[in-house]
Amino acid sequence: MFLKGKTALVTGSTSGIGLAYAKLLASEGAAVMINGFGDATAIAAECAALAAASGAQALYSAADMSKPAEIAAMVAECADKLGTPDILINNAGVQHVEPIETFPIEKWDAIIAINLSSAFHTIRAALPGMKAKGWGRIINTASAHSLTASPFKSAYVSAKHGLAGLTKTVALEAATFGVTANCISPGYVWTPLVESQIPDTMKARNMTREQVMHDVLLAGQPTKQFVTVEQCAALALFLCRDDAASITGANLAVDGGWTAQ
Ligand code: NAD
Repeated sequence: MFLKGKTALVTGSTSGIGLAYAKLLASEGAAVMINGFGDATAIAAECAALAAASGAQALYSAADMSKPAEIAAMVAECADKLGTPDILINNAGVQHVEPIETFPIEKWDAIIAINLSSAFHTIRAALPGMKAKGWGRIINTASAHSLTASPFKSAYVSAKHGLAGLTKTVALEAATFGVTANCISPGYVWTPLVESQIPDTMKARNMTREQVMHDVLLAGQPTKQFVTVEQCAALALFLCRDDAASITGANLAVDGGWTAQ
């Protein structure tokens, strides 16, 4: 339990990759604040499970990552109730797929706000506490789309490339304070988000489930395997170890070789 006494704040952690981060950090003793949308009963059950695993508190913030004032209030609440975050994982993210000519302006604004600007706001609020303690870990879930592009994802690709740049800048600003900042950049991860696209794609392309998985979703992923949420979380946990103190400003691909092509 090497994270006993540490506090972790994980945005977008009511499902998928974020929840896997929260579970693994709690299993090493961290007090965790989770965030995101979802069913209140299910979220309360997750908090209870996290607290049982860590032996520390686990709290939930309903802050909307598109709203700077709510983000500031979330970081302040975390500091008040659990302690200033030692580990900050910016993971909340949304997607919209459409050609740029018709891409709705409000979708562009929302994706930039949630996938990029929220990390600016959380880091801005949390970094002083980390610097004061002389230890901190900032981990941003970027994407293979922070390193390469795909058509029809203008906002997502722009936000994720921006997040990679923000991470490098923060790494430089924090380098002498024992604080590291890195991106984890997954390829296609098996989450409810990905699974829910399959039925529509089967219909649209007249394909079987297996064809959609291998010929559409995994077409660009050389391993022909989905990344798992546990693999992403394992890397995040490693970044929290003292062994990872010299890894900063890195954009770590977990993408089955996608961006090696
Ligand atoms: P997910 O939909 O399971 O999780 C997204 C989380 O963000 C949820 O907890 C959701 O409630 C939360 N969220 C959405 N909008 C929010 C808002 N306005 N305020 C607060 N929380 C909000 O998806 P996931 O696949 O686990 O994605 C997590 C991150 O990983 C995202 O940043 C995504 O871009 C990135 N990612 C995912 C994949 C993939 O294949 N699944 C690949 C690369 C990167």
